[in-house]
Amino acid sequence: MMKRLLILLVLLVPALAHAQEFGRHFTDSTLRLDYVFCGDVQHQAIYFHQAYRGGEWAGRRHNLAAPALRGNGQVQVLDPDSGQVLYANSFSTLFQEWQATEEAAHMQKAFENCLQVPFPKHPVDIEVTLLDTHAKVSSCIRHRIDPSDILIRPLSDNGLETLWVRKSGALEEAIDIVIVSEGYAPADKEKFFKDARRADEALFSHEPFTSYQDRFNVRAVFAPSTDSGVSIPGSGEWRRTAVSSHFDTFYSDRYLTTSALWTLYDLIGTVPSEQVIVLANTAKYGGGGIYNSVTIMNSDHPTFVPVLVHEFGHAFGGLGDEYAYGDNPETMYPADTEPWEPNLTTLVDFGSKWADLVPEGTPRPTPLDKLEEKDVRRIWNTLSADEKATLNRKIGVYEGGGYQMKGVYRPVQECRMRINECEEFCPVCYRSIVQMIDYYTSTSE
Ligand SMILES: [Zn+2]
Repeated sequence: MMKRLLILLVLLVPALAHAQEFGRHFTDSTLRLDYVFCGDVQHQAIYFHQAYRGGEWAGRRHNLAAPALRGNGQVQVLDPDSGQVLYANSFSTLFQEWQATEEAAHMQKAFENCLQVPFPKHPVDIEVTLLDTHAKVSSCIRHRIDPSDILIRPLSDNGLETLWVRKSGALEEAIDIVIVSEGYAPADKEKFFKDARRADEALFSHEPFTSYQDRFNVRAVFAPSTDSGVSIPGSGEWRRTAVSSHFDTFYSDRYLTTSALWTLYDLIGTVPSEQVIVLANTAKYGGGGIYNSVTIMNSDHPTFVPVLVHEFGHAFGGLGDEYAYGDNPETMYPADTEPWEPNLTTLVDFGSKWADLVPEGTPRPTPLDKLEEKDVRRIWNTLSADEKATLNRKIGVYEGGGYQMKGVYRPVQECRMRINECEEFCPVCYRSIVQMIDYYTSTSE
C-alpha cells in the first residue's frame, strides 16, 4: 500500500509542480495579441495592434519556457524585472513566405497576425521575434502587457454554432484543434459539419495520429459566408466569405490562403484553440499549412485526405516539404544554417536530426534505389508493398528537399511530406510528430 502511494506521489509531483509554476504567473484565460508584420525582403517590422482577453487557455501548462522547435518566429512572455522567460512558443508566417517572392524585392506589404499566450496575473513583457533564413533576428518588438489595462478587450461568446467532433480530455490535457468554416453559406451548414467530421477521420486514420487520437480534441465552428465556395482570382471568381480566403496566393494558382487572421480569431472567439484548420468549401485542389499558424484545406478535391494530413504535418509537426524542384533560385535553406524543420538537414548540425537512425556506412548523399528513376509519382500504385516500404522506410541522407535539388537532404526517398501518392510519413516525420504530441501532452519531463 505504502509502495503504491509512493508511486502515485512520484507520478503526481511533477504535474503538481508544473501547475504551481503555471499558476504563479498565469490565469486560466487566453491573452490574444494582434500584430501587423510588415516590410519587404530587406527590412521587416512588427507593430502591436490590440490585446484581447479570450476564452479558457487551451495550451500547455508545462515545458513553459522552451518552444518545441525554433520556427521562423517566437513569442516570449517575460518577467519585466528578472527577464525570466515565463512562456514561449514558436511559429511561422505567411509574411515570411511572401519575402521569398519576387514581389517582395520591390514592394512593402503588411500582414495580420495573431498570437495566443496564457493570460498573465501580473504585468509582463511580450517579445515577438522574427528570424530570417539564417536564423538571425530580422525584426523584434518588446512591449508591456498589464493585465489590469482597461483597454484589453474581453471576448465574449460570438454566438456561432459549434460542434464537438472529438472530445478526448480536458483542455489542459489534450491538443485542441478548431475547424472553422470558409465559403459555406447558411444553407451549407450540415455539409460543413459533415466535412469537419471527414477532416477528423482523414487525420485520425493516419499514423501516428491514430495511435494518439485520445490526446486530441476537435471542435468545429460554423461561421456562415455570404457566398458558397471561395475566391479563385485566376478565373475572375471572387466570393464574399467568412475569412476572405483565395487561391492564387503569390500568383501561384494552387496556393489557397487567408490573410484575414484577425477576423479568423474573431470567429473562433472564446473557443479554446491550439491548432486552427480552415475548411474551404471548394473542389479545387489546394491548401496550405503554416507552423503553429493555420492549416487551410479545400473540402472536396479527391486528394482531400492526403493533402490535409500533409498540411497538418506542416502546421502541427513543423515538418518541411521533402520535395525539390528543378533549378530553384530561392534559397529558403542556405548552406550555412541547419533548418529547424526536423525532417530536413543541410548537414550543418545533422546530429540534431536523424543521424541516430542512419545505418553505419550509409553514403552521403545516399544513392537512390533504381526504382526512383521510373517516375514514382505516376507508378506508385503499381509498386509492391515491399518496394513502397523501401522507398518510405530506408533511412539515409538523400539529396533534394525543401524546394532545393542541391544542399538540402531528406530522410527517405518518398514520404507523406514529399508526394501525395505516398500514404505514410517516413520514420523521421513519424518520430517528430510523436515527440510533438508528447511535448504538448506529457507532463513527465
Ligand atoms: Zn518524412
